[in-house]
Amino acid sequence: MGRMQDMVAIVTGAASGIGAAAAQRLVEEGASVLLVDRSEENLERVAAGLDGNVDIAAADISDRGQVDDYTRRAVERFGGLDAVLLNAGIFGDMAPVDAYDEKRFDEVISVNVKGTWHGLRAAVPHLRNRGGGSIVVTSSTQGLSAYFHSSPYTASKHAVVGIAKNAAMDLARDNIRVNTVHPGIIDTRMMGELHETASPQDPDAAMTAFATSIPMGRYGRPAEIADLMLFLASNDSSYCTGGTFVADGGLTAF
Ligand code: NAD
Repeated sequence: MGRMQDMVAIVTGAASGIGAAAAQRLVEEGASVLLVDRSEENLERVAAGLDGNVDIAAADISDRGQVDDYTRRAVERFGGLDAVLLNAGIFGDMAPVDAYDEKRFDEVISVNVKGTWHGLRAAVPHLRNRGGGSIVVTSSTQGLSAYFHSSPYTASKHAVVGIAKNAAMDLARDNIRVNTVHPGIIDTRMMGELHETASPQDPDAAMTAFATSIPMGRYGRPAEIADLMLFLASNDSSYCTGGTFVADGGLTAF
């Protein structure tokens, strides 16, 4: 019997990277999963590779109405809701704090912070109806410390920790658990774009330099974050709430 047998989950940012790996892991463990992302075409591609009970919803998580719609869709399609993985996010541009473009700043905050807040709020009544559930928020090691030239991203990833911890306290008596995951440097499209920005002539050199800074000497794989998310989404983590769970190959151990 799977660790998510007969459970219903939503995964945002499911068309790529960590979200796609998490959706796969939950499906393998028996969950019915609604995959959410911006592009229907990309969602269809990921869903086609999954062997289980899945549906897709194209939505922009920064739009509250669209978030309410996809949440309702999961409940109508699968009969309830047990776990929500609020994982979609953007990195934004790289620029020093005093030169950061205001529009871009607002966009990163709107997607990463408001998007997470919308997703959490929309899920709560449905989780309550089931007698409890789990909310897993994707932060970052930049939600615990910082990195150069990415002030809105760092701010957003700290902010979602605040939202998650507060929600954990507000919802604990409803048996709704809320935890954050903090991936280090993971081999996904987001990092590929960062390599291009950091070293346009030679993106591979940026990857090697980043990898050297990690005690384990390598990037994480999306599946290694998905396993942590599975633990938090399932009843295996029944006494964990308000927690910050790091998976970073030792990056923040210094
Ligand atoms: P990714 O770019 O491969 O996937 C992110 C997905 O989110 C994309 O499919 C994108 O379309 C989707 N998305 C972005 N904005 C959206 C919106 N407004 N509405 C709906 N979907 C939207 O990146 P990833 O590395 O898999 O990132 C997943 C999460 O992990 C993000 O929150 C990211 O900040 C976080 N993270 C990534 C790393 C890393 O090294 N890759 C490290 C720490 C944290």
